[in-house]
Amino acid sequence: MKLLFTILITLTTTLLASEVQNYKWGSGDTYLTFLENYSLPTKELYYDLDKEDKIATEDIMRGVNYQLLVDDTSKVLQALIPLNDELQIHIYSKDDDYFFQTIPIISETKVDSFTIKLANSPYQDIVDQTGSLKLASIFVAAFENTINFRREIKKGDTLAMVYEQKYRLGREFSMPTLYVAMVETNGKPNYIYQNEDGIYYNERGEIAKNFLLSTPIQNARISSYFNKGRFHPILKKYRAHQGVDYAAPTGTPIKASGDGRVTFVGFSKGYGNTIKVKHASNYLTLYAHMKSFKKGLRSGSYVKKGDVIGYVGSTGLATGPHLHFGLYSGGTAIDPLKVVEVAKKEMSKKEKEAFNKIKNLYNGYIQSTLTNEALFIDTASMERECYFSFLDTPKT
Ligand SMILES: [Zn+2]
Repeated sequence: MKLLFTILITLTTTLLASEVQNYKWGSGDTYLTFLENYSLPTKELYYDLDKEDKIATEDIMRGVNYQLLVDDTSKVLQALIPLNDELQIHIYSKDDDYFFQTIPIISETKVDSFTIKLANSPYQDIVDQTGSLKLASIFVAAFENTINFRREIKKGDTLAMVYEQKYRLGREFSMPTLYVAMVETNGKPNYIYQNEDGIYYNERGEIAKNFLLSTPIQNARISSYFNKGRFHPILKKYRAHQGVDYAAPTGTPIKASGDGRVTFVGFSKGYGNTIKVKHASNYLTLYAHMKSFKKGLRSGSYVKKGDVIGYVGSTGLATGPHLHFGLYSGGTAIDPLKVVEVAKKEMSKKEKEAFNKIKNLYNGYIQSTLTNEALFIDTASMERECYFSFLDTPKT
């Protein structure tokens, strides 16, 4: 399968009369309005889909770049719309019919690093040097509970970070992943490392963050885990599950996972009664399939961690009562179980050894970044041609 996706046909050689167009998914866009706008058939491309595919169409995030392949009469021949950083919707026409499938995203991953001598604040200086709010916010979030930047950092202190960035069709794509961040306070370096478990630790191997989020339902059984896109061998389909499902009886109270502002209270076909809450550090939580909302709660309301915001139900496309709990960071779905409160346990001897290995490796990266005085390089500007894959369409 993988091989098929790597064999790509360029448009210029195969489709002389068609053109690739790039668009950004707008804040008010929905999948159904998208279909209507481009005169695409809603029956084949939405109403005939199964439950999971229908829900997937609600996971398209505002701001995501998508591509259309159109012919000279403006008819859409194909569309590629990312659902997360691994899976995308692929719409294509064949013999005057339209088809829907989810396929893996072809992306490239690069590890980059840079160092900056501070002039203002870590956030401002990173934005000034890189133009990336995302890099600035993951750096600041890493040190959130360890260092008070305003008080402890002086002009001339140095910061450095090593991170991984995905590129899709030559453009930066999705949130960067921080490997290691270093910032000096009075000339003394402080480090934060992302360990194999996806959690940030300091030099001593202690969890560096007071976790922002708590579990929205206590003592509930998890009936489905997070995954970004797995091939289902029986259905022969790629499936993503952009959250965690907690099975619980109808009416069980659902609690806000952290302090924040409610940005959405309403109904959608797939997720049913849904609430979205925006938190600090660019996190957004989503609570779906609810029976009902807490009285008086509306978009714009402020909630505290632990406040009841609604009740478990099975509205939308749900087979039984459960809470679908989603977590997004900078517009990308991430595994909620990596961010909800975990018991602060000591690392085992084996875990500590593995952590120390990662730490030594990352310290080496930081050292060479500092030695080389590596500046940020914008590799995303190396725009390449847009490709559509034709080989993954089912054979007749
Ligand atoms: Zn779910």
